Amino acid sequence: MASIEVQPERTVIRAGNFEVGGGRIGVIAGPCSVECQEQILASAQAVKKQGATALRGGAFKPRTSPYSFQGLKEEGLKLLASAREATGLAIVTEVVATDDVELVGKYADILQIGARNMQNYRLLEAVGNQVRPVLLKRGPSATLDELLLAAEYILDAGNPNVMLCERGIRTFEAHTRFTLPLASVAWLQARTHLPVVVDPSHGTGHTDLVPRMASASIAAGADGLIMEVHPDPSRALSDGYQSLNFDQFAKTMEMCRRVADAV
Ligand code: PEP
Ligand code: MN
Repeated sequence: MASIEVQPERTVIRAGNFEVGGGRIGVIAGPCSVECQEQILASAQAVKKQGATALRGGAFKPRTSPYSFQGLKEEGLKLLASAREATGLAIVTEVVATDDVELVGKYADILQIGARNMQNYRLLEAVGNQVRPVLLKRGPSATLDELLLAAEYILDAGNPNVMLCERGIRTFEAHTRFTLPLASVAWLQARTHLPVVVDPSHGTGHTDLVPRMASASIAAGADGLIMEVHPDPSRALSDGYQSLNFDQFAKTMEMCRRVADAV
């Protein structure tokens, strides 16, 4: 069902003022993790000012180490909902367990399936059984065919609003956290009507590389971007080394706009 041969017209996904697909470029931005009211509100206001229409922020965090910050859980979801109240931004947040889908859906506008859960098929069915759009991230070791089949689980369960996210894969190369293959954008768009979003933050793991890889994603035809932005990345509780501060985010958006105007 994800196939462009079955559905030639491109899927457009809407959540509040956020739109992605079919020529509409949607920008999702915000911190890796929700940390406190002040941090999420300041982030929301800053990313909105630069043209983002959705706010990201993890409340349930899938961390490599069990000793790392695990997120504020429901308290984080409440803070995201209050940032939506204040700014009108759509809320994108990750759900890591089938049992949490209903709770996260009460607060979020778009449910994120993280890279580590791309092949958690019961979780894919659970988000397929509810009404919120889904941002499905590519697993770090998954092929693009496997990504499309993971999307198929959600579509087949009855939820047509799936956007795919290229967030980098694991290779032998160690100069970046992951290797970000932008050819995925065109490859996927030739095969599926679903919007394709790029995450240059996780894709590179380095703040300095994000502006150029974000604008390169737009040049490659991406339908949207998801980027990590934090008021003070040096103090972030997760992924500060790949987060943009507000000024860097403003410059990145300006670069992306110039590229979008040119292509
Ligand atoms: C995130 O978006 O913060 C995240 C954990 O991403 P990924 O699942 O792509 O690693
Ligand atoms: Mn992160």
